[in-house]
Amino acid sequence: MSVLWPLRFEPVFRRYIWGGRRLQTVLGKSIGEGEDYAESWEVVDHGEDQSVVKAGEFEGATLRQIVEQHGAELLGRHYPQSQFPLLFKLLDCNRNLSVQVHPNDEQGQCLDPPDLGKTEAWVVLHAERGSALYAGLKRGFDREAFEREINRGTTELCLHKIEPRVGDCIFIPAGIVHALGEGLVVAEIQQASDTTFRIFDWNRVDSSGNPRPLHIEVALDVIDYGAGPVSVQVPEPTDRPHVERLVSCDKFTLDRLRVGGELMIGGDDRFHIVSVIGGSLMLDGDPTDRPVQRGETVLLPASCGECRLVSTGGSTLLDMYLPEGPYN
Ligand SMILES: [Zn+2]
Repeated sequence: MSVLWPLRFEPVFRRYIWGGRRLQTVLGKSIGEGEDYAESWEVVDHGEDQSVVKAGEFEGATLRQIVEQHGAELLGRHYPQSQFPLLFKLLDCNRNLSVQVHPNDEQGQCLDPPDLGKTEAWVVLHAERGSALYAGLKRGFDREAFEREINRGTTELCLHKIEPRVGDCIFIPAGIVHALGEGLVVAEIQQASDTTFRIFDWNRVDSSGNPRPLHIEVALDVIDYGAGPVSVQVPEPTDRPHVERLVSCDKFTLDRLRVGGELMIGGDDRFHIVSVIGGSLMLDGDPTDRPVQRGETVLLPASCGECRLVSTGGSTLLDMYLPEGPYN
């Protein structure tokens, strides 16, 4: 078994009606011309959408090829997997995103083609004054009541609204109605799925004058009506003083790390997705030999063992990995 080094990928940009320029202006990404850069997919293995390694021995390989040819080294204790199970992206919500909901794994299996369910979590990286997001239905909205408001054109009235601060984390399990709002830049970790049921798109049309399709019936079928409003996550301390846990669920764990000088990460026989959200750092074994800057992401394969991070001036990272349980 060979050792895989830390993997750096080319970002996969997505341009949507609600995107803007902040992937460059806030996160330093090199984007092209255009006012609609919505998402930077940092780590993805989903059908045709593939992260491609940008440096080192595996330069040019897709994440799927690495899962297939070096799965044991990449995935460690979670080997084997038919696809890389998590997707990590950065979003510029220059305008409101559609009000939407995602299926769970069981419901996703009934789709054509079948897809994973989608549980997701957001960390707010930037917020314009007054920007908001929507997370969960207000209390008292069952299927009938929610459907009535959708038909009246008053979907927004049913949604729990939050004005988040930078650093806030919001956890959105499958079945929770949600929408990110204009003026936010967020990091999102999710299951590697691309199935979205759109309920309301703010009465918008695209540049050709067409509205995007809605999927109201199927959305109403997958909503978890018992869940109610979603609050901002309360970070929990861990046994390591510089690490706080933002989300722990059966699909992923999301930790936030503050690095003052040196820090060891990994060494637990599982992969880690590490994204720098503040400052920059150097990582031993990084084939680019360049600092990992705010807005950049590294995938540490399980076979790397413990990796040393060195920060000058302090930095903040997100560390995302699979929990024990369904993936073992
Ligand atoms: Zn979503």
